[in-house]
Amino acid sequence: MAFVGKASTDRFWNEHMETLDGEALWQLEEERLRWQVQWVWERSPFYRQKLSAAGIDPAGLRRADLARLPFTTKEEIRRTQEEHPPLGGHSCVPFSQVVRVHASSGTTGRPTLVGATANDVAMWRELVARCMWAQGVRPGTRAWVALSMGWWIAGISFCEGLQHMGATVLPAGNTELTRTLAVVAQTGVDYMISTPSFALYIARFAQERGIDPASLGVRHMGLGGEPGAGIPEVRRLLEETWGCKVYDCMGTADFCTVIWSECEVQAGMHFLGQGLIIPEVIDPASGKPLDPAPGATGELVYTAIQRECVPLLRFRIGDVVRVEGTGRCDCGRTGWRIRCIGRVDDMFIVQGVNVYPSAVADVVSSFRPRTTGELQIRLPGQGPQVEPPVHILVEHGQTPGDLETLRQELEAALRERLLFRAQVELVPPGTLAAQGSMKRQLVVRGGR
Ligand SMILES: [Zn+2]
Repeated sequence: MAFVGKASTDRFWNEHMETLDGEALWQLEEERLRWQVQWVWERSPFYRQKLSAAGIDPAGLRRADLARLPFTTKEEIRRTQEEHPPLGGHSCVPFSQVVRVHASSGTTGRPTLVGATANDVAMWRELVARCMWAQGVRPGTRAWVALSMGWWIAGISFCEGLQHMGATVLPAGNTELTRTLAVVAQTGVDYMISTPSFALYIARFAQERGIDPASLGVRHMGLGGEPGAGIPEVRRLLEETWGCKVYDCMGTADFCTVIWSECEVQAGMHFLGQGLIIPEVIDPASGKPLDPAPGATGELVYTAIQRECVPLLRFRIGDVVRVEGTGRCDCGRTGWRIRCIGRVDDMFIVQGVNVYPSAVADVVSSFRPRTTGELQIRLPGQGPQVEPPVHILVEHGQTPGDLETLRQELEAALRERLLFRAQVELVPPGTLAAQGSMKRQLVVRGGR
């Protein structure tokens, strides 16, 4: 049905798109950007008003005009969904054409919805397939989907994309782990897609029942949803625990569950949404686009160029990334490569030094096995400015040695490597570990 007969020896899922050179990609993006802007102009009062206010004429739009389009923010989407339920003023199709709705938790308690037409869902399948192929998934791969299957876009979208490739899907979800481990032992398994937090949770769950995670047979694992697989020490922990190769990948519910993935070279996550999405990196303070050259660090902005239901133009997603490489990779793919550093909202500033929780996690994990790698950064209030010392809870390991020495060494390492003063408080193993949630909360704000 969905299986399209790709040969396992093929190097790419979609060779044409994944290896486009700069000039050909630019032309394709120009054509599709013009289509997309025309699409929203005709169907979305929300965008028609924004584009008119910015003096944009969709008919003559060029690829070079992208930076002239106004940004769209999460706050605007939240507001327009309240004013124009259910999907908002950026929705471009009647609700009868929506084949699926996903919902994020939303910070104010009211969920943010994302809808998709049949064509949008087909686009998701295509993009999942490009990314999973880069991670070594092939027709016949036994793929364990260890992601929640509910409102979150990830679970069902990965199941569909993997099935589309001809993989054998084990839709395990994030509950009934005892049954899951039994099924995996019965069927065998080659690959797992999950989040770093949940992969570590499954490993602990298995170990507590006398099962070595490495004995389950997973040879490769895709992890996304939060930084982790891209943090060297966290990746090492995951690879050692599971005895497999870990691939970092990343997406967003507003565009597709996965848009970037590492290839076998693992030199950053490739952009694989060619012809579907245009990514930009901007300076978060000034909003100016940055040249995506190696080393450039900024906030990701996405523009949909082939979306029917809820297309977003220059959407500020809030992820901060560093460009790792451009040009053709040894794997043959041409999409530029990034590493996710963290969320704009999670960054804090200590006496002029920008600190990302993922960098703190890297330092804490480098003390394994004296630490478990689990930590929680306690910030006193809202806003990025934080007075030192920064209060950080760290789980010590089962054999930490002298606790006072460990505490002092952690504080010294944070000061030397990340240039801020911390006050580390050691807590017993198991105190902070997420109990089966998909993502861990590294930062807690608002007092102790
Ligand atoms: Zn590559």
